[in-house]
Amino acid sequence: MRRLAVFLASSDGNDPAYAKLAADVGAELARRGIGLVYGGGRSGLMGVLADSALKAGGEVVGVMPRSMVEREWAHEEVTELLMCDSMHERKAMMAERADAFVALPGGLGTLEEIFEVWSWRQLGFHAKPVGLLDAGGFWTPLLDALRGIADSGFLPASTLDDLAVAPALPGLLDALEERLRRGPQPAHGS
Ligand code: AMP
Repeated sequence: MRRLAVFLASSDGNDPAYAKLAADVGAELARRGIGLVYGGGRSGLMGVLADSALKAGGEVVGVMPRSMVEREWAHEEVTELLMCDSMHERKAMMAERADAFVALPGGLGTLEEIFEVWSWRQLGFHAKPVGLLDAGGFWTPLLDALRGIADSGFLPASTLDDLAVAPALPGLLDALEERLRRGPQPAHGS
C-alpha cells in the first residue's frame, strides 16, 4: 500500500484520547512509508493527524474545495494541497490517489465519506478496501447497528465481512492488505 485515505473529525471530540490516536496513526503511517491522503483541514483530529505525519517525515496530500481553503480551513504545511470546486470532486480526487480508505473517530462528514466508498466498493465501482479503526470501541455501536441492518436482510453478510475492522492500526493495515490481495468484493447480489 502506497497511500491511505483517512477520514476523521474536523473537531477534537471530548476526550484527549482521540487526538492521541490521530497523532499515533500519523506517526505510524510515516514510519511505514505510507503516504496520507486526507481532507486537507488544519482543525480537529484532521490537523493532529497531518501534523504528526509531517513531523515524522511522512508524505501528506490534502484535498479541499477552494471555498473551504478561502475560509482558511486548509493546513498550510502539507506536502501537497490539491484544490477542487466541490465536495464531490474532493472525494473523487481522494479516492483516485489512495489505495485504501479508513475512518478514525468523526462525525457526519466522516460517516458520509466512509459509507460512500464502502457502498461503491459493494457495487464494484472500485476495488480499494475500506476499514474502520475501532480504537476504544468507538465504532462498536455503529457496527451493532449495521449487524441489525444485515439481520433485516438489507446488508449482505459478505459486505459486512468485507469491511476491515481492527482496534489498532497494525491489525487494520494487515486486514486491508489481505483484501487488496483478494481483489474486488464479489458483485452485490451475485
Ligand atoms: P466531521 O466528521 O463531521 O467532522 O467531518 C469531517 C469532514 O468534514 C472532513 O471531510 C472535513 O473536510 C469536513 N469539514 C467540516 N468542517 C470543517 C472545517 N472547519 N475544516 C475543515 N474541514 C471541515
